[in-house]
Amino acid sequence: MVLFLQGCNFSCATCHNPHTMALCNDCGDCVAACHAGSLSLVNGHIHFDPAACDQCDECLRVCPIHANPMVQHMDLPEVLERLRRDSVFLDGITVSGGEATVQLKFVTALFKAIKQDQSLAQLTCLIDSNGHLGPAGWKQVLPWTDGVMLDIKAMDPETHMRLTGRNNGKVLESARYLHEAGRLEELRLLVIPGLTDSVAEISALATFIKTLDPATPLRLNAFQHHGVAGPARDWPAADRACVERVAAMLEGAGLSAITKPAVYL
Ligand code: SF4
Ligand code: SF4
Repeated sequence: MVLFLQGCNFSCATCHNPHTMALCNDCGDCVAACHAGSLSLVNGHIHFDPAACDQCDECLRVCPIHANPMVQHMDLPEVLERLRRDSVFLDGITVSGGEATVQLKFVTALFKAIKQDQSLAQLTCLIDSNGHLGPAGWKQVLPWTDGVMLDIKAMDPETHMRLTGRNNGKVLESARYLHEAGRLEELRLLVIPGLTDSVAEISALATFIKTLDPATPLRLNAFQHHGVAGPARDWPAADRACVERVAAMLEGAGLSAITKPAVYL
């Protein structure tokens, strides 16, 4: 099961689900845009009627802050109940987003409850993260976490700032911390032609990963336009040849556990 949590501390130009970035502020701008009458303001709060919604996504397009009026509000017992209901079909749960660690207290409580529940303890608990969390935060959640999949958006600080609006210092610190804690499930690189596929970028990434362990799993994802909003829609997508070239550079530099996309859009 993947639980997508709302809210993010990065604002990535290439985000494929930008409507997860912000929390709704109940402004009501999306109500008039909903042709199906699924949205209304009730006592100053946005109300969503899923029965009327035909999933046209117009509300996501008009929201001025990259929020989503269709989110479900779930507390811990509700998520645990959903897991118990479906557990026979599940190997584990991954929290993603948005940036899941923005809701660190909830994730920590959820994973702790899973690991302490005999009917759920067999499930793996994984976090999909941008790495913008300090050691004190990781320390809270790692005792209940099996692994973290961590994005390295770029090694060059200026490129990282351009892509995400944030510095990459904390991301690299997180990679080191998680590796030392034995919880770095895999690193991920989004291959963006002209931005993250240069010799300098790939060489710096290989050098960094080798300081951890050359056998650290690294997943290459190919930048595509699906879901992307804003100027990055005009950036070139990454094709198979581009990703193969990046993979060859990384393997040539001594990395031994690279995964490439199974399909290209
Ligand atoms: S996706 Fe949004 S705008 Fe479209 S019908 Fe559903 S609530 Fe309304
Ligand atoms: S989803 Fe966006 S447009 Fe709709 S009420 Fe919330 S903040 Fe306003």
